[in-house]
Parts: sequence; structure tokens; C-alpha cells
Amino acid sequence: MEKQFALLIDVKSCIGCQACEQACQTVHNFPVQHEADLSYTALTVVQEKGGRNVRKLCMHCQDPTCASACPVGALQKNSFGPVTYDADKCIGCRYCMVACPYSVPRYEWTKLAPFVKKCDMCAERVKQGKQTACAEACPASATVFGTRTEMLAEAWKRLRDDPSYVQRIYGTEELGGTSVFYISDVEFEKLGFKPTSQDRVPLRTLTATAMGDAPMVVTVGGSILAGLYWVTQRRKEVALSEALERDQKNDKGGR
Ligand code: SF4
Ligand code: SF4
Repeated sequence: MEKQFALLIDVKSCIGCQACEQACQTVHNFPVQHEADLSYTALTVVQEKGGRNVRKLCMHCQDPTCASACPVGALQKNSFGPVTYDADKCIGCRYCMVACPYSVPRYEWTKLAPFVKKCDMCAERVKQGKQTACAEACPASATVFGTRTEMLAEAWKRLRDDPSYVQRIYGTEELGGTSVFYISDVEFEKLGFKPTSQDRVPLRTLTATAMGDAPMVVTVGGSILAGLYWVTQRRKEVALSEALERDQKNDKGGR
């Protein structure tokens, strides 16, 4: 079986330096600046909650509802861990944004040809044998990256070695499990983590049932989506041709 990778985020060790945010923005060619919440130019943010610094990012769910809600398969769970997004397939319906229980995906509302943006766990870097940019940048070992087995072992080691940690790894069971694990010395509920330990059912099960019960909605929705697809593709073509035209004008002006 292919190795599965994961991130371990240690809330107790995080010093709030935001190096993870900056590294993420640098590898994505976004402006390097702190943003209060996730945005299409901030795929991870460090937020102060319950007196601690808590990173927010895509959880890379084991059974992601964003992928199950996407009618064209633009989002998919990769066998090695990350949930990735294919902009070429996306029709801009934004079902993923509604479906995500962690309110992660963001949309490029201000762009002419908008796409969905979210953390992809540096999938291309991971394929090249590298770690994620956020883990590489963290000076406090508060974000670490490795195989799922290694990250779980590291998490249990930290919990064993220091009894002040809440003796629980968030992400092993919640909503069917994730590929981002958290450990903390403050109860997760007090840090605003949702869902709680009671919510252990993969939400995909619920979306599948809802879809199964509403065939008419799916049929009508399918026609609307086909229309949306055409409009989105057309919008992308127009945006591209406008950009080309602009470049040609600039070239002429610059000579
Ligand atoms: S956290 Fe949301 S966007 Fe990320 S994999 Fe899970 S459902 Fe998808
Ligand atoms: S780089 Fe590490 S220590 Fe700094 S804010 Fe991010 S997780 Fe916390």
C-alpha cells in the first residue's frame, strides 16, 4: 500500500510566529501578509483562541464531503493523503464550500475567471519527497510532517512525555478521521474545534443519503450544472483572450 502522509499540529508548542503562513504564501506566490481568516490568498492562518495559537487549514479528511459533493470530481482524496483540486474540472458551483464541515474552501470572488482555493498539503512537493512548506518553516516543531503512522507515533509520544497535554489526538476519529492531527494542552472544544468527539460519522454518508433521496433535484441540478459548466468555460476563454489582448497591447506599448 502507498504511504499515507499527514501533518501534526501541536497547539501547545506553537509560538504564533506565523512562519507557516508566510511559507505557504511564498510557495503559492501570494502576497506575504497575515490575514484574520482563510482567504484565497491565505490557505492557512494562525488564530488566537482560548489563549493559544491555533492553525486553521484544510483537514484533508479521510472521506471528504467536499469531494463527495463535487458533481464533476474536481476535488479528490489522493491515496497518499492530500485532498487536491483540479481547476480544469471545476464548474464553479461551489457545492464544496457548502459541504465542508470545517468551512475551508474559499472562492476567488473578485476574479473574472474565479477558482476555488484551499490547502493541498503541498501535494507536488510531497510527490518530490519534500515536506510541506509550513512544516519546513516551523521553528518550534509545532507543525511537523511525515507518514500518518509517524505522525500518530509522534503525537502519542508527546502526550506520554507531558501529562499537561489533553490525552487525545484530534483528527483520528472526528468525521471519519483526517490527515491533519492536533494535540493541545487546552480542551479542543474550548479552542472552538468542531465537530466534537461525539461526531464520528463521516459526513459523506449523510450527503450520499440526501442525494439518494432526491433524484429530481439531482436531475434538474444536472441540467443546471451543465449550463453552469458551459458558462464557466466560456468565462475562462473570454478572460484568457482578454489577458492575451492586454499582453499584446503592453508589448507594443513597451517597444
Ligand atoms: S476540511 Fe473541508 S475542504 Fe478539506 S478535505 Fe475536509 S471537507 Fe474537504
Ligand atoms: S510556524 Fe510553527 S510556531 Fe510558527 S505559527 Fe506556524 S505552527 Fe506556530
